[in-house]
Amino acid sequence: MSIRHKTYHIHSLGCAKNLVDSSVMQQMLAEKGYRNVEKARRAGIVIINTCAFIHDARQESIEAIKSFINTKTAGQKIIIAGCLSQRYQEKIFTDLPGVDAIIGTRDLYDLGRILERLEETGHSRQLSSDFINIPKLVNPGEFHNTLIQGASSYLKIADGCHRNCAFCAIPNIKGTLVSRKNSQVIRDALYLQSQGVKEINLIAQDVTAFGLDRPEPNALANLLKELMPQIPDVKWLRLLYTYPGMVSKELIDLMAEENQLLPYLDMPLQHADPAVLRSMNRPSDIAWVHDLMSRMRRKIPNLVTRTTFIVGYPTETEGSFEELKAFVKKIRFDHVGVFTYSPELGTPAEVLADPVPQELKEERMAEIMAIQEEIALEKSQAWVGKEYDMLIEGFDTNNQIIAGRIWRDAPEVDGLVIAEGLPTSDMLTRVKISSATAHDLFGYQIK
Ligand code: SF4
Repeated sequence: MSIRHKTYHIHSLGCAKNLVDSSVMQQMLAEKGYRNVEKARRAGIVIINTCAFIHDARQESIEAIKSFINTKTAGQKIIIAGCLSQRYQEKIFTDLPGVDAIIGTRDLYDLGRILERLEETGHSRQLSSDFINIPKLVNPGEFHNTLIQGASSYLKIADGCHRNCAFCAIPNIKGTLVSRKNSQVIRDALYLQSQGVKEINLIAQDVTAFGLDRPEPNALANLLKELMPQIPDVKWLRLLYTYPGMVSKELIDLMAEENQLLPYLDMPLQHADPAVLRSMNRPSDIAWVHDLMSRMRRKIPNLVTRTTFIVGYPTETEGSFEELKAFVKKIRFDHVGVFTYSPELGTPAEVLADPVPQELKEERMAEIMAIQEEIALEKSQAWVGKEYDMLIEGFDTNNQIIAGRIWRDAPEVDGLVIAEGLPTSDMLTRVKISSATAHDLFGYQIK
């Protein structure tokens, strides 16, 4: 039985790492002669790449699956991929009978085999190989672990996580840390350069864990040193998701010395009260964070910092929340993201129940965001009056407006630049910033 016109449609939810996985699946589908179609109802195969990070993300994934099942056309096959499918395979099959196949995050490269089986037999209810003994990721076709978005891109350097943060389901879903080989990462980066990409964002659950599974000391710094000279046309190399305690002197030196490696520190801290951090099973040495920040700011005066916090964790008291507020005021990050805590199935924190009422969690989130809003506005003002390279991500030629980012902002999570101007052939231009809000900058193109 053939799949209708060998066409597919992918709907991707969740984080950048998931988007990279969608891109890997697209490469595999293309290799098998499948063609991407924009409208799901025209596709023979619909893949929903799900997220199961928190309750809301799970709900969104389930709603998306239901809506694709409701509009499923005759002969169409629905495949569920991503974190939700890794975690809740049996439940998906029981609760959502329109699903034809499930592929776990660790079995991504089995997509070809699943497609063959669907093509041969038309059989429903295919599971990818082994969900129980989570296997190592293998990459038979040497697919690129990349995602290109205009002149920007993500490159995945590792997957899974060997840590055990009490609130986090990722190690259960993704398995333990598996670093890619330097040669694979470099090959992907060279490919991105050949595609005209100007920004590479290196991603993993924790980029600073790269190489710990080999084990290789300073593996990330070594990789960067090997990589940077080979990709001179890539102007911005950014590290996303570092772990407290793991930002090495070698890494700081590289950020200070190498123009290509952006002085952008993205370090999710989750909290600032040592007692909460201990119960989160996270590094609780807050003095280390203060020390790191002052060392880095001394050495790299233009350092930009981003972090995330979880509010409403079960052991968070009024006192711990006050400590968190004081910390946010003291450190003055450029970018802060805040999540409200939700208990995740099978995590160590699940037994702590969920004593902080949702309303209070949301109040606390709003309070942190209000504190940060003032800081961000002050920080944004410092960029006004100066000139920067801007990566163009969108434009309106009629009104002569370009939108994009300067290096201060990471894609999707940080702010934008809106400028008067026209797109360039390589999507890079020079702008002068004339005004700022807390998150976005405004200006004009300089010829
Ligand atoms: S470092 Fe902690 S929060 Fe991050 S993926 Fe690993 S277990 Fe989860």
